Amino acid sequence: MGFFSRKEKKGEIANVSDLASIPEIKAILETGKEAVFLNPKRSSEPLPFSVSKMGGEPNMNAFDAWPECSDCKTLYIFVLQLYKSEYPEFPFPEGSDLFQLFRCPNDDCKGAYDECSDHLMQWFYSEAITDSNKEIQRPSADGDQLEEPIPDCLFNPERRLDYDSQSLYVDLEEKYDNFEDVIEVFYEKYGSPVGTKINGHPDWIQDNATPECKCGKEMTFFFQLSGSDEGDDGEPPHGLSIGDMGNIYFFGCDNCGVESITTLWDCS
Ligand SMILES: [Zn+2]
Ligand SMILES: [Zn+2]
Repeated sequence: MGFFSRKEKKGEIANVSDLASIPEIKAILETGKEAVFLNPKRSSEPLPFSVSKMGGEPNMNAFDAWPECSDCKTLYIFVLQLYKSEYPEFPFPEGSDLFQLFRCPNDDCKGAYDECSDHLMQWFYSEAITDSNKEIQRPSADGDQLEEPIPDCLFNPERRLDYDSQSLYVDLEEKYDNFEDVIEVFYEKYGSPVGTKINGHPDWIQDNATPECKCGKEMTFFFQLSGSDEGDDGEPPHGLSIGDMGNIYFFGCDNCGVESITTLWDCS
């Protein structure tokens, strides 16, 4: 080893399974936040409008017509809906108990590929009426640049702690020779696959870009729509790749409520 390339000796962790004794890991374990991993899977049958799900027939009771893109006027595709009765940990403003998400399927829309999302996203809160559905069908419209409607996918929710482990690799690699063994043990015990989830931590692929609200407060992450969800064939069951295995991150301000909701996205 040359004079100028002298390398500092790294350490060795004696017992890799005693994670709490490693300061860098201890710090990550303190970031644990309750999350609901939704694990969407393709349904073999159409799911009713009265359940939380992705794709298929949405609850249309809050609409007078099928919603269209505010920018290019293309009819939206329905992404997902969450009922408060099933997901009370999702943020609902007073008087509403249904959250619905739509997106513009048009790749050439002016609202596509900006800093907020790959395709323009639109969300609606309403009061859930589930005894009967309003008969509003999405007229089928196909064009070369349009994303396909999303097929019915049911959720297989798993509630567990989610850790902010973004800096794990860098933190450990710098200090320990056997950092890879530690990372393996960490992921076995505490890791979660990247996917669509409520709360927890955003799985930034690029740098952390948590936004600040107009009022000056740092915004709170509350939902992630993911192109990394895996169906039985390893592909996203909903067909959304969001760039290349990207995620759309939803943030809101505790002071300013639903009006402040904003999204950011990234991909590899
Ligand atoms: Zn559009
Ligand atoms: Zn605010």
